[in-house]
Amino acid sequence: MVKSEQVWPISLRLSVTDQCQLHCIYCAPPDGVEQLSFAELLSFEEMLSFVWIVKRRFGLSKVHITGGEPLLRPGVTDFVATVARENVADLALTTNGQLLGAIALELKRAGLPRINISLDSLNHETFRWLTRGGELRHTLAGIEAALQSGLSPVKLNVTVLRNVNNHEVVDIARYGLERGCEVRFLELMPIGPAADRFGDLFVASAEVRAKLGEAFHLKPTPLMYGKSSMNYLARDAHGRKGIIGFISSQTAPFCCGCRRLRLTATGQLIGCLARGEGPDIRPLLRDGDSCDGETLVEAIHGALCLKRNGGPFRTRELMARVGG
Ligand code: SAM
Repeated sequence: MVKSEQVWPISLRLSVTDQCQLHCIYCAPPDGVEQLSFAELLSFEEMLSFVWIVKRRFGLSKVHITGGEPLLRPGVTDFVATVARENVADLALTTNGQLLGAIALELKRAGLPRINISLDSLNHETFRWLTRGGELRHTLAGIEAALQSGLSPVKLNVTVLRNVNNHEVVDIARYGLERGCEVRFLELMPIGPAADRFGDLFVASAEVRAKLGEAFHLKPTPLMYGKSSMNYLARDAHGRKGIIGFISSQTAPFCCGCRRLRLTATGQLIGCLARGEGPDIRPLLRDGDSCDGETLVEAIHGALCLKRNGGPFRTRELMARVGG
């Protein structure tokens, strides 16, 4: 029997669907992500029983709801409400924002405190091309609705790509700061389709920071152990302040202190994003072993043991499957 550990809680990324709405050039194959049948997806009850067991046996510091596009899964608002009732210290959701305009207030009322929205470009043409058909105006409407609804903070995630959007970083940061959003610039990871184009597209955080430094005064904030983002207090020429963060998976990996586990929509438990491996726990969740299941606890330990300190990305998995 594996002993449970309460001292260092788990931060859980929970993918509620692998269905994508946008098919970004670095994230999804050109013909989209193969759609799995509904029966292959974990039910919300199965996800919830996993949340319970992690909470009870390991401690749970955060539940982050992802996808695919989580807002495509029917019933996601009720699921958010159920998870919110678990009183986990931190609850968040990541979305492309396309459907958010109509649902932001409902999510807030369901108990979602904060939200992350992907925003890789402020140029309508670039956005449409980069996302293979997304409409920037819908995401911008989603951001406004999130702010109006009182979701806080609203974090804007920007994956920086050379010759695609790296010339936009100051504009996106300014857009975010003007609205009181946190803006986080992500280094591209060699995962999924990005692996083949990595050399051409990758931009290091240091380069982005240098460019932002020409427009903002950037003061580092203390690094939080186990957090992925290196945050700066940014101030512009008008004295407007805000948080700008850098998620530097390649040049400053945040493995140390990582207690993140990812549960895919089909029930694979992934211990390390760079490896994309982990046990399939769907059968365990489905056969009722979930409540006090020692096998499940052992599987969680197994996934945690897959963690590595640094080292290359070795997975060909898609972020849409792993949970972006
Ligand atoms: N919700 C989206 C949809 O269906 O339109 C797709 C989810 S995608 C997996 C979510 C986020 O993952 C992206 O916006 C990006 O921030 C991040 N992402 C995906 N691939 C990445 C890569 N290779 N490197 C860095 N970030 C990546």
